[in-house]
Amino acid sequence: MSIEYKYCACPLDCFDLCSMRAEIIDGKVNKLEGNKEHPITQGFICEKGRKHVARMYSPLRIQKPMKKVNGEFVEISWNEALDTIASKLKHYINQYGTLSIAQYNDGGAGGLLKNVENLFFDYLGNVTLFNGNLCWGAGIAAQKSDFGDVKGHYPEDIYHAKTIIIWGRNPAETNLHLVPFIKKARNQGAKVILIDPIKTATAAFSDWHIQLRPGGDAAFALAAVKYMIEHNLYDHAFINNNTKGFDEVSAYVKDLRYEDLMQICGADLNDVKSFVDVILNVPATIYIGYGIQRYNYGGLTVRAVDMLGALSGNIGVAGGGVNYANKVYGDHVNWEAVAPVKKPEHRYLPKPKLATDLLQLKNPEVKVIFISRSNPAVQLPNTVAAVETFKSIEFKVVLDYFMTDTAVLADIVLPVTYFMEETDIMYSSMWNGYIFYNEKLVNNDVEAKSELEIYSLLAEKIGVSSFPQMSDTQWISKLLENSSEFDLDINALKSNTYTYVNNIRSIPWEDFKFKTPSGKFEFAGAEALKQYIEAQNDSEAYYFKLLTVHARESLHSQHLMDSDRKYPEVYISKEDADLIEFMKLKDGELVKLENQYGSIKAELSFSDKVQKGVLYMKEGWWYKNGGSVNDLTPHEVSDIGNQATYNECRCKIVKLGV
Ligand code: SF4
Repeated sequence: MSIEYKYCACPLDCFDLCSMRAEIIDGKVNKLEGNKEHPITQGFICEKGRKHVARMYSPLRIQKPMKKVNGEFVEISWNEALDTIASKLKHYINQYGTLSIAQYNDGGAGGLLKNVENLFFDYLGNVTLFNGNLCWGAGIAAQKSDFGDVKGHYPEDIYHAKTIIIWGRNPAETNLHLVPFIKKARNQGAKVILIDPIKTATAAFSDWHIQLRPGGDAAFALAAVKYMIEHNLYDHAFINNNTKGFDEVSAYVKDLRYEDLMQICGADLNDVKSFVDVILNVPATIYIGYGIQRYNYGGLTVRAVDMLGALSGNIGVAGGGVNYANKVYGDHVNWEAVAPVKKPEHRYLPKPKLATDLLQLKNPEVKVIFISRSNPAVQLPNTVAAVETFKSIEFKVVLDYFMTDTAVLADIVLPVTYFMEETDIMYSSMWNGYIFYNEKLVNNDVEAKSELEIYSLLAEKIGVSSFPQMSDTQWISKLLENSSEFDLDINALKSNTYTYVNNIRSIPWEDFKFKTPSGKFEFAGAEALKQYIEAQNDSEAYYFKLLTVHARESLHSQHLMDSDRKYPEVYISKEDADLIEFMKLKDGELVKLENQYGSIKAELSFSDKVQKGVLYMKEGWWYKNGGSVNDLTPHEVSDIGNQATYNECRCKIVKLGV
């Protein structure tokens, strides 16, 4: 028996980007555990990380390419699968042009080389693509507007903070490795403030939980902005020297009424005053989650929180900052070196509106769609319409490990390799700045290929001769060439279990040179603030606001495939006692949630974690578990960033059997 240990990093779309040690026995990965030496992972990984081995060796993995024949899938060879796809592509391109080909992907599996598939479509011509975002788009757009870029403080900088404000983020379940940092800072005297409409597990190690109404975050932030300006409590030097637009904001918030703002956010003015006290106890750091920007005014919401950082003098200082994401390496990848000489002019559609708008595209209509690293039949907003849209597309190719709710809609399904079966670079933590060389650890048992190999073969088959044909390591070397300030090199990355580039340990914006057009921090304009305020009203047809949150045990829908729950749980506030009494609802009762988009069945659970009028449930449920929660969510986009507005979901409870 041979036993060896090798290191790799987790490819899931998670803040943490854990470093893992794989125990390999006789050529098979036996287990994965957290790398004890890695400063972030600190020897532990989450349930999702531990499940990687079982998922890789799962009997449910797709074994071979499959083709739908008379409504049933049959296994076929790779040659037949790729020949079929190539001939369909040629046919549709000849008949309708390249715009009739659409590509849809997302962050279901991370890695530098996963993005090479995008290049294939660049080489194919001007195709139909999806911009915008299901995850974090509004916040990214917001911070780019305010700061000019999206940068986070390095993890250990939290120890300099006197106050840690966790705004709409739930590290206890979705950013686990931030928790030891928060707890250590708290033990050293920092106060931890949680702002969240749900009393999440993070409340257990917070000193104060401010429970706002869903969508009321910007109103709360604006009340604090108004209070700081009215009481002359802001950092004059920073505002005078390093910002643009302060006077306009100041004039606008002066006319806002605290009672209106409190009505929107559900807080008390005393909460605002106490909050101003803590944020002025500089340095105070803010960690924002992605839920607060999944609203119609999600961009404005993040911009309002950024204003607090600016006014309180917490920008560019150790222990401060408004940490939304930490895009460290993405902009330094040398895609230009491998791009086609002539950049195609793709046709774009906002991703959150795919369900309703894809079929509106004409001249030409979309005839073919490639879907990879995602399960949009479950994860897109308004999935009822999305599924019908996918069904109506003439030829669909899905790349995945498992027969997801999306894969079953396909005409051809291609099995892809798991991250331990391929070589790649992992670099995409939204929080810390580590980068990893993930070497192929084992051979795959199933007849899977990497996305890189699939698209390289396809390029050959359809005669796209200019598409670069290189090995995985050649691609990595090429993409990391001239990685500007970081000077990344494949051999250096390969020789280290993990790499941390020292120059990202600087404090974001400490030179106050912002990357905005003015070179200053730019406040959101009064018109945007006004639009947000005017849009807040509670006169919607459906009583409940439904929040769909990330599960601790699953990255979106990926791991909920293992759940044997017949129906998901939906949590209702015990404060809704009148309605519970009136409808004679019981704890554990199966009910229907319904709105204009669709309905799902769910088991009611009485909870003290939410407020009156708010329901919450985990997202990511498969149809076998009672239906996607996105059967209920709107297919709209946020004010900026084309972000999905999942949290603008309203519904009613319908009692079954009456
Ligand atoms: S999902 Fe996140 S916390 Fe879990 S192992 Fe992967 S990177 Fe670590």
